[in-house]
Amino acid sequence: METLAIPGRILLGALSLVAPMRCAVCGQAVGRASRWPLCGRCEASIIDSSPGVAAPRCRVCGKPLISERGTCMRCRDSDFGFDSAFPLFQYSGDARAAVLAYKSAGRRSLAPFFATVLAEALASRFPGRPVVPVPPRPGKLRRKGWDQVEDIVRSLERRHGVEASRILVRADGTEQKALGLQGRAANMRGKIRVAEGLASPEYPVLLDDVLTTGATLSECAAALRRAGAIRVDAVAIAAD
Ligand SMILES: [Zn+2]
Ligand SMILES: [Zn+2]
Repeated sequence: METLAIPGRILLGALSLVAPMRCAVCGQAVGRASRWPLCGRCEASIIDSSPGVAAPRCRVCGKPLISERGTCMRCRDSDFGFDSAFPLFQYSGDARAAVLAYKSAGRRSLAPFFATVLAEALASRFPGRPVVPVPPRPGKLRRKGWDQVEDIVRSLERRHGVEASRILVRADGTEQKALGLQGRAANMRGKIRVAEGLASPEYPVLLDDVLTTGATLSECAAALRRAGAIRVDAVAIAAD
């Protein structure tokens, strides 16, 4: 029996190599030619849910505008540190499912998908400007083993020739998730700085995964301005 167990295990190993990749949203098998774990239907549904670069959006937070003009109601009363923010998707439906699969379920192979959509938005809105990733909380890499923003940045650099400037560092703080709008702003205050002895690019584009209250991006933008940035815009995968 012992001799049979070994070929069995080898066979199982070989099977797992040819097992189909599953769509991160609907779970359907995805063709091996696909560059990321999304079936054609879910990928199209995510892309279609994007308002696109030409659609009317709030000039501050980038959320699609319905009846307002120029700036959304919320941003009229807010004072953000960045000049504009451009989220690719709203945090709902299949786009939300893909972001959750990536961030929470660890489907890291989705990074090239998000990078590809981001690269198009960067090229049309902010051509030639360097991307500055929002830094993870200290110890996150150790705990989680990877940083979802960094994976996308690497893909942007390697596959799309985007220049990245990793100059921001973050002091420890409570996780933003647990806090409300006011709490998030207070929690972030003074927590982000440009690394010792470095200057900011003059026209950086901040990159984060999900834009919620804008508190983190605001602090990052303020730090970049203190270090010499003239204009700071931001991109995110999704706006919640
Ligand atoms: Zn699917
Ligand atoms: Zn807005």
